[in-house]
Amino acid sequence: PPAGDLVEEIQDELNLWAEKNAQEIARLKENERYRKEFLGNVSHEIKTPIFTVQGYILTLLDGGLEDKNINRKYLERSEKSIDRLINIVQDLEEISKLESGMLVLDQERFDIVALVHEIADAVEMEATAHRITVKVGSGVSQPPVYVFADRRRIGQVVTNLLTNSIKYGREGGCTTISFIDMFDRVMIEVADNGVGIAEKNIPRVFERFFRVDKSRSREQGGTGLGLAIVKHILDAHGQGITLRSKPGEGSTFSFALAKGAIHPQRPANTPASA
Ligand code: ADP
Repeated sequence: PPAGDLVEEIQDELNLWAEKNAQEIARLKENERYRKEFLGNVSHEIKTPIFTVQGYILTLLDGGLEDKNINRKYLERSEKSIDRLINIVQDLEEISKLESGMLVLDQERFDIVALVHEIADAVEMEATAHRITVKVGSGVSQPPVYVFADRRRIGQVVTNLLTNSIKYGREGGCTTISFIDMFDRVMIEVADNGVGIAEKNIPRVFERFFRVDKSRSREQGGTGLGLAIVKHILDAHGQGITLRSKPGEGSTFSFALAKGAIHPQRPANTPASA
């Protein structure tokens, strides 16, 4: 080929290479920014309960131990702070696993209505303590409703949504879980009539560590990671999550799952209408 063409070809190669490099550098910078922000958030979150416990211990050592009125109370509060720390560490482990792309789904066919009932039973005490009723309504004609998904992970999604509806519910309120048939998928909706979320915060609640009301979340043992975990798990299933909410009226979270085959697999070559 003429020398001019060759030079042009080399030039093109070089440009392509430079562009790829620039993209890679931008990606690394973004990772670095993300890592720093994450570390900053984590140390802030962990410091709070640690300093709280330290404060109680110092007061106890400083004579509080002999005071029957406060020693038990301070120990109980310390225990609550430690409990919070454990929640934070567990959620952090979970999120780092999810974000490193190490989540391998263990998908199977299962009855989503049965799973939701199981979880509703497990959170019943917490709901009663907040005077909130949890209703597992149907919507889809008849249970069982089979989906194809990672049962344990979807259990985590439902648990997080249900406990949130209790934590941010109003006394005497109600949470309803419904199932909606959508051709090849099943939509699951968790609706409460609690405090609700302002429109501007709706996309933000799925961010790590974002809370509308920090002190309310802390008081309830929240870590600010629950909905980020929910979003990751549904992402891994190739599904999104939507939130409709009005402050003072309540919130509805909805997500869909692929339907599990309704009939057990037929042996090959058997006509469907046999
Ligand atoms: P947290 O541990 O703080 O509950 P989440 O990630 O689960 O963290 O939720 C983030 C924030 O979104 C909460 O702090 C709360 O402000 C808001 N939120 C979540 N669920 C609800 C709900 N059902 N009703 C009102 N606000 C909610």
